[in-house]
Amino acid sequence: MHIRKQRLLTPGPTPLLPRALHAMMASDIHHRTQDFIKLYPQVLADLKEVYGTQGDVLITVSSGTGALEASISNFFSEGDTIVICSAGKFGERWVDLAKAYRLNAVVLTAPYGAVVAPERVEQALRENPAAKGVAFQASETSTGAAHDVQAIAEITKKTGALCIVDAITGLGTMKLDIDGWGLDIVVGGSQKAFMIPPGLAFVSVSEKAWAQNAGAKLPRLYFDLKREKKMADKGESAWTPNVSLILALAESLKYIKSLGMDKLIENAQLLALGTRSAVTALGLELFAPHSPSSSVTAVKAPQGMDSGEIVKGFRNHFGSIIANGQGTMKGQIFRIAHLGYFDFADLFAVIAELELILHSKGIPVEFGKGVAAVQKVYAEAAFKPASV
Ligand SMILES: *Cc1c(COP(=O)(O)O)cnc(C)c1O
Repeated sequence: MHIRKQRLLTPGPTPLLPRALHAMMASDIHHRTQDFIKLYPQVLADLKEVYGTQGDVLITVSSGTGALEASISNFFSEGDTIVICSAGKFGERWVDLAKAYRLNAVVLTAPYGAVVAPERVEQALRENPAAKGVAFQASETSTGAAHDVQAIAEITKKTGALCIVDAITGLGTMKLDIDGWGLDIVVGGSQKAFMIPPGLAFVSVSEKAWAQNAGAKLPRLYFDLKREKKMADKGESAWTPNVSLILALAESLKYIKSLGMDKLIENAQLLALGTRSAVTALGLELFAPHSPSSSVTAVKAPQGMDSGEIVKGFRNHFGSIIANGQGTMKGQIFRIAHLGYFDFADLFAVIAELELILHSKGIPVEFGKGVAAVQKVYAEAAFKPASV
């Protein structure tokens, strides 16, 4: 047995930023003292800057789903109509939430690997003029496909409906002009491009959304965003916060600001480009070839092979944790992540590992062919002025 370093290469949780991890050690502070009240407003301000909005950005102590739930419970009343674009397991989560809160869900589905075309949203809003919201994923992490956020937002903006974006893997991997495009609610999660462990979620709220909140009657308590905002304005959180993660977030936001959000996005986009180029060079097929996201690339397993074999190969030979498919996609695809604290050195290794694993399964592989494709992307990006 040789040394195998464990590497977390999944689309959430993602690799941790070392300085954020170290910051968590200082969590022996009380959240109703000056120590915290010095820290929290700065974190909220940095989060707002990284989100790139003039609107409010609030934090919930939960995984991403908690903030998705808050996006429903704070802005709707029972029986309200919501249009949902469902193109994968996370789109299905919007549907489950709408059902749990007894909304009238108009569900636009796309087959796994595809996305819902903006024209379908336009038609659904025409047919349901009283709709109070349109909910979708910026990047559907389960399939590696990305919705056209700008186009859907522009359609929604012309109506009374709120544009509600699960951007949990969209933030930091694609441009999202929250104020310019009219994204009313944008949800993020700590364990994705924010480079810290799971346990915090973020939600931006526009003026239009606050106006709808005023008349929204669904029950809520722990995830009451109005209450959260009132406390945030005083520099505090409504409930006992996850102080260790707030400390980590403070560091990761500083890092993202120093890098620049546009560079973080470009980083993911280049890694995604390199990955697509490498796997196609190796003769594999992309699962979402027409609207690939830059947060994660989903790749079909070679004919007749269970993708779990590849996932297992990564773990057993190299200690690399990559993702299998979810639901019915389990066994069909494997997913390589690009969001957050990933770099080209990670990707060179991942593709070299993939080549070795395919070879070990008897798939004909020319060693270095995939790696060379990534190197080519790197060479072009590193030695030419960047543009996104
Ligand atoms: C990770 C993720 C979520 C959040 O799931 P949690 O397990 O609740 O953090 C939601 N939507 C998308 C698109 C995701 O990638």
